[in-house]
Amino acid sequence: MKLATYAGSAGPQTGLIVGDTLVPTGLAHDMIGLITDWEELRGQLAEKAASGAGIPLADVTLLAPVPRPGKVFAIGLNYADHIAESKMETPEHQLWFTKAVTSINAPFAPVQIAKGTATVDYEVELVAVIGKRGRHIRAADAKHHIFGYCVGNDVTERFWQHRTRQWSLGKSFDTHAPIGPWITTADEIADPHALDIRCSVNGEVRQNSNTSHLVFNVWQQIEHLSTAMTLEPGDLIFTGTPGGVGAAMDPKQFLQPGDVVRCEVGGLGAIEAVMEAEA
Ligand code: ZN
Repeated sequence: MKLATYAGSAGPQTGLIVGDTLVPTGLAHDMIGLITDWEELRGQLAEKAASGAGIPLADVTLLAPVPRPGKVFAIGLNYADHIAESKMETPEHQLWFTKAVTSINAPFAPVQIAKGTATVDYEVELVAVIGKRGRHIRAADAKHHIFGYCVGNDVTERFWQHRTRQWSLGKSFDTHAPIGPWITTADEIADPHALDIRCSVNGEVRQNSNTSHLVFNVWQQIEHLSTAMTLEPGDLIFTGTPGGVGAAMDPKQFLQPGDVVRCEVGGLGAIEAVMEAEA
């Protein structure tokens, strides 16, 4: 199934994506509640999806599928070509940073270039959405803890990222974590390590790879993160970006107001943002 959060008449609501339509779930649950109660709800939701009572997607404003996750973690330097272009060594240990939960943004909303900044960059990523709560999850069991997947853009303010050794501030500006367009449940993705992943700016393809090139795969990432902390329903894991970021171009190409950034992952759909200067 494909599950979205959208702007309903009385605030954010959840819906099922069926073809080019959205079928409201009619549930009071937000997405984290829906993920938490999934085993009880999935049967009735599958019936609802088959009912055909959808609203055309063109008439719907999609919000971030998980508007306020409990946590957002992202791994750095996790595709060989991105490590090479960054002139870094392949990390011996997984390199993790957080993105503030307030950086979450809707899949088609504008992304801000904040006041006083000029080095904003894109990073298309496969995002895993945690389903079942867990700690000390073994890689072999990790797939049972994933609810589904969506597309993310780990938007980064490069100057803020690199002027200190800790990356989190440069990764946490408001609007810098657009995700969506919806969550595709894990049962619909035969292999998350075989998905085409692509980013274009104003129609020019900048990143074009496949998740088969991850250095640390999604299962290893969940094992490693859950060694330290409990993963909970709705937590988001950005799994790394391939080569082709603007900071590695010669000359460097940072995003400008009006630029259109499109990120897509095979089978998961696409998200798209117009860059705008912070008012
Ligand atoms: Zn990233």
